[in-house]
Amino acid sequence: ATMPPLLSALANAGRHGVLVKSAVVMERLGQVDAVALDKTGTLTEGTPRVTAVRPVPGERAVDEGRLLALAAAAEHPSEHPLARAVVLAAHARGHRLLPAEDFGSTPGVGVTATVGGERVEVGAPARLLPGAEDGRTDDAPRTARAATVAAGLAAALEADGHTAVLVKVDGVPVGVLGIADRLRPDAAATVAALTGLTGSTPTLLTGDNPRAAARLAADVGITDVRAGLLPQDKVAAVQERERAGRKVLVIGDGVNDAPALAAAHTGIAMGRAGSDLALETADAVIVRDELATVPTVVALSRRARGLVA
Ligand code: ADP
Ligand code: MG
Repeated sequence: ATMPPLLSALANAGRHGVLVKSAVVMERLGQVDAVALDKTGTLTEGTPRVTAVRPVPGERAVDEGRLLALAAAAEHPSEHPLARAVVLAAHARGHRLLPAEDFGSTPGVGVTATVGGERVEVGAPARLLPGAEDGRTDDAPRTARAATVAAGLAAALEADGHTAVLVKVDGVPVGVLGIADRLRPDAAATVAALTGLTGSTPTLLTGDNPRAAARLAADVGITDVRAGLLPQDKVAAVQERERAGRKVLVIGDGVNDAPALAAAHTGIAMGRAGSDLALETADAVIVRDELATVPTVVALSRRARGLVA
């Protein structure tokens, strides 16, 4: 028997390093007419590096080494690319990490753990700074002052295009880490190809700060930027476009992208560094993390469906 076109397209996608989970998905890929991309780990390589370690000076001051070691200990159980960067930097500087107890993580926000008897929180300044504990302890004025200093340190790093990560100990901001990631070499070409295929420019959906997001978007030719999003905000952004009649292709890598990958007409996960949840939820997986294979498989689907020659 001759191979049905969609099955040979599926096999062909496999040869390009894209694991398409079914012939139905292979068919749906050719129907998409809008694209939404995640930033960290998707448009960027997902191997960010710590570029700055900035303690908040003051009474609870920790030095650079302790700030990094505490943050790394709390991040150790996390599979987030930022967490890996922090752990890597601590190891590179020879720190031995204390074990993390009672670890918890909130997608799009950060992590929390008990390290050496202290409660450590690491995550997005915008999420951790709006003084949750303000006015609740004797420490309040000190905490408020430390929060103001930390916010200033974070804003300066973000203006430089870095992702700022706040570190709190027992509710008090003690420092900020600057983390930077490289754009994937094929990011701009992929955005251009997807724009050509769908007739509209992709949307950037990110949990990162608006300053870093805008800077990266400009570099790849994206004008529609939604920053500071929680996982459910990414879902809402996708649903908004689907209600407007678009068939949205979502490309992401993180636990925070999983709900949007599920809500999308079609979801594709980055395979190499992607989280297990994203890989399981997505309809297809880019096994070798070559972003440029996305427009390739969309075109393969369209040819198989006889829409183009
Ligand atoms: P993106 O949507 O760009 O992939 P995420 O939604 O995964 O980003 O994360 C959004 C923001 O939440 C990050 O920029 C960071 O500030 C914070 N964050 C999430 N997880 C962590 C973590 N494990 N460590 C530090 N910060 C984190
Ligand atoms: Mg991501």
